[in-house]
Amino acid sequence: MSKNLLAVGALLAFGITSHAASKLNVMTATEDLASIAREVGGDLVSVDSIARGYQDPHFVEPKPSFLLKLQKADALVVVGLQLEIGWLPPLITQSRNPKIQPSAPGYIDASTFCKILEIPQGQVTRAMGDVHPLGNPHYWLDPDNGRRIAKGLADKFSTMQPASAAQFAQAYAAFDKKLTEAQKGWEAKMAPYKGRKVITYHRSWPNFCDRFGLNVVDYVEPKPGIPPTPAHTLDLINLMKRDGIKLILVEPYFDLCTPNSIAAQVGGQVVVLMPSVGGNKETTDYFKLFDYDVNLLVNSFLKVK
Ligand SMILES: [Zn+2]
Repeated sequence: MSKNLLAVGALLAFGITSHAASKLNVMTATEDLASIAREVGGDLVSVDSIARGYQDPHFVEPKPSFLLKLQKADALVVVGLQLEIGWLPPLITQSRNPKIQPSAPGYIDASTFCKILEIPQGQVTRAMGDVHPLGNPHYWLDPDNGRRIAKGLADKFSTMQPASAAQFAQAYAAFDKKLTEAQKGWEAKMAPYKGRKVITYHRSWPNFCDRFGLNVVDYVEPKPGIPPTPAHTLDLINLMKRDGIKLILVEPYFDLCTPNSIAAQVGGQVVVLMPSVGGNKETTDYFKLFDYDVNLLVNSFLKVK
């Protein structure tokens, strides 16, 4: 073999191994976090999510394939605030991957970067239903929190891979700019409906409604995580009639029976909003998620005028 060929071979081998070694393998609990991780990670990371966006993130059925993925991860990004408490902790333990155990640097709790609402004051008891005791974990539904998650991830990825810090910082800056532009559009579309009262099924939307000026006055669930009861449903119907409330926002994984019957009695509309990326075919990334929800809301308000 000639000296030149050897040199080419060595270069190729070096190139391939250094590239493979440099790509961070990132797992996320949800598709929202995966979408943001892809935005700031670009081709320096490979990203996969455990839960799919059409699943209820409080209840995800563990599969053996999740374990295989977690075993190979350099980092695991979670929503936190106990959203995944029913399914994720045993998977992390069973993965036996030291990099992603809760005390390890590769365990990234995205809630620590974000503005959290509904942090309960005083003692949380079972009588209150499935109240999230550390605050509302559906916080990614405010683009400002999406921006905070992106910044947090860019910083973490830079710590894990210092040689690429400039690229992560640049990707974050590009995401921030694109999100700021998009957010202006969403806010402008929602502006005519500022202050409108709505009912939501679960407490998934406080951050979203805060951002876009909607006023959530009650829930189809009588208490968080507790299915509808006839008495509470009757109260809702009376409230909606009295205050002229027309929209009931429902996550795609809840039964539509009660919301539909309420809407029929008050001349209202059930709006199946997507709480997560991957909830349906249209919501393929973090931007498309808000595009979809904002457009659907605007159309729904126009219908019930
Ligand atoms: Zn919840």
